[in-house]
Amino acid sequence: MTGRSRSISNLKSQISNSRSRSELQRSLDALLAEVRACRICADFLPLGPRPILRARTSARLLIVGQAPGTRVHATGIPWNDPSGDRLRSWLDLSREGFYDESRIAIIPMGYCYPGRDARGGDLPPRKECAEHWLGRLLAHLPHIETTLLVGQYAQTHYLGARTKDSLTEIVRAWRQYAPQYFPLPHPSFRNLAWLKRNAWFEEELIPALRKRVHELIEVGE
Ligand code: SF4
Repeated sequence: MTGRSRSISNLKSQISNSRSRSELQRSLDALLAEVRACRICADFLPLGPRPILRARTSARLLIVGQAPGTRVHATGIPWNDPSGDRLRSWLDLSREGFYDESRIAIIPMGYCYPGRDARGGDLPPRKECAEHWLGRLLAHLPHIETTLLVGQYAQTHYLGARTKDSLTEIVRAWRQYAPQYFPLPHPSFRNLAWLKRNAWFEEELIPALRKRVHELIEVGE
């Protein structure tokens, strides 16, 4: 192949790649619109359906939490609460970096606020989200290289047979899952005592997590 025909062939392949990228993004936008209109669990949600998730096909990092709390439900912005502030500090990311959906997709296990149990804690994420939507959403995210599994619902779902009996055991074994997965405790104030008891988390896991996250998001599209 001559230099000229090689450069034409490269150009054609770039055009075809960028066309397929924009087709995939259009398909993801249509799917997100469908998810945001979802009412499958309407009868069970005390504040009604309001699916909160975000993604673009170029994202390299996926954050999987539990389900929105009331403040996130009210604002429609994921992790827009003190837990989100702690998560951003673990990742060493500004709000702007954290919410750059071209780099970071945020798809929790449950997309709508599920309500509270009798003791005042949040109910588990609705299973219907993963059953109806997750596979199709993930199929639109071909560049995800690392997934943060925040809390035991995400860990159980994504790790499958590789899960362990407790969140502490799973997080302590983080080296077995990284860099594809980083299992994390929920960054809620309720886990401050856990963080104190498990100093290795901030001393060993957090530096490795920050390094990985910054490697991924600092690469250009
Ligand atoms: S919780 Fe999930 S499945 Fe249920 S209405 Fe919300 S988006 Fe739909």
